[in-house]
Amino acid sequence: MTSIGTTGLVFNEPLLWELGAKGRCGFSLPRPDVPAADADKDLAGEGPDFPDLSEPEVVRHYTRLSQWNFGVDSGMYPLGSCTMKYNPKTNERQASLPGFAGAHPLLPDSMAQGILRLMHELQEALAEITGLPAVTLQPAAGAHGELTGMLIFYAYHKSKGKPRSKILIPDTAHGTNPASASLCGYKSIPLASNEEGVIDPAAVAELMDEDTAGIMVTNPNTLGLFEKNIREVAETVHSRGGLVYADGANMNAVMGIVDVSQLGVDVLHLNLHKTFSTPHGGGGPGAGPVCVTKELEPFLPVPRVVQKDQGYALADDFPQSIGRLHAFHGNVAILVRAYSYILSMGPLLKQVSRYAVLNANYIKERLKDVYHLPYDQPCMHECVFTDKNLHAHKVSTLDVAKRLIDYGFHPPTIYFPLVVSGAIMIEPTESETRQTLDGFIGAMRAIAAEAAENRQLLLDAPVNAKVRRLDETLAARKPCLSG
Ligand SMILES: *Cc1c(COP(=O)(O)O)cnc(C)c1O
Repeated sequence: MTSIGTTGLVFNEPLLWELGAKGRCGFSLPRPDVPAADADKDLAGEGPDFPDLSEPEVVRHYTRLSQWNFGVDSGMYPLGSCTMKYNPKTNERQASLPGFAGAHPLLPDSMAQGILRLMHELQEALAEITGLPAVTLQPAAGAHGELTGMLIFYAYHKSKGKPRSKILIPDTAHGTNPASASLCGYKSIPLASNEEGVIDPAAVAELMDEDTAGIMVTNPNTLGLFEKNIREVAETVHSRGGLVYADGANMNAVMGIVDVSQLGVDVLHLNLHKTFSTPHGGGGPGAGPVCVTKELEPFLPVPRVVQKDQGYALADDFPQSIGRLHAFHGNVAILVRAYSYILSMGPLLKQVSRYAVLNANYIKERLKDVYHLPYDQPCMHECVFTDKNLHAHKVSTLDVAKRLIDYGFHPPTIYFPLVVSGAIMIEPTESETRQTLDGFIGAMRAIAAEAAENRQLLLDAPVNAKVRRLDETLAARKPCLSG
């Protein structure tokens, strides 16, 4: 197995201050025809210490730095539980149309009819995709959507006369779930999953009481498994007056295929920056729309986008609303990308999920004879292995991840979910070709063979990368923030 990468032509790059020389310049202006005058120092101050650089020096500097990076545009990025997928470029183009990109957020409704209509139609599309009829586009992230959902839970129970204090959270839920619940004042009650990696309805029946507001379920869960008992779980929770929250960050596995309202879900958030064509990572802006049942619609945040007098308007007049969660219209460019993605895919959205699931199962089947597979059953969009088979060679998950860099692949998610010791979680997504998947599988198999034959190579990995293995403890304890 040879690497798809190369070690050649990766440049060292000094700081800009070490590059320039006095008098170099990136532009040429005509000679002045008036006498030069110094800027007024009292007004302008000393000015920043910018180096003098030529245009090619600047262009090469940033181009070289960009080549140290790895992204989905350079290769496979199999980050499970995060859907780092390829986002079609056409959706970027729509988001940068001047009418959207240049619109001022304080425009009156009458001058913002285009974006309001887009938001309204996006709400309807998300309602159709999820099966939950009422939607807010305000929340700025998945976790923000969860907080919105928890505030809605609280408002709902309060409207019934008694706000409750606890919430059930399975151990396969995403870490943001208990954090959001606790931010809202709920006490998280952990729910252990069964030997199949899913929720045990009997455990829910035991824990669900009249002081428990409901349950937060990630479905498919962070093991990449569909919560097949969800209906029974939802019935138990509802029968004791509770509500069911579904974390829909893993929607890439079930888009347009599962009607979550039929599963008994009352509130669900989506991550537009995972599933619906906004690149994410690096902490960039996101959008976490929340979809709810008709019964919970009155609690949605305001202002809401409504149809009015043959046009569209932002309306505040919802007395039971939990209030506003984001300034202006939310992160609008992300909404435009999602709208463009949904319309350009049409009925093929289902195909996205089918391919995502097929690709994950293909990798699972092709690797399970060499890597330990803790839950040997059909998976959804991601599959989880462990390093158990490598223990004999004193090689760990981290070494496998680092060695993948030498083969030209971004490492997958490791040591998550926490319920699996030494987890290696792989999410190939829908858009990788059979050749790329086979290349990744080949690299993973070659690494397993190296573990037995040349263990030191794995411990030293990455050996071909620009930066070698970093001391992660030192990086966390003594971060160097000054460059
Ligand atoms: C990413 C993710 C979240 C959190 O979403 P953010 O947009 O990062 O706040 C929640 N749940 C699951 C399952 C996720 O994968």
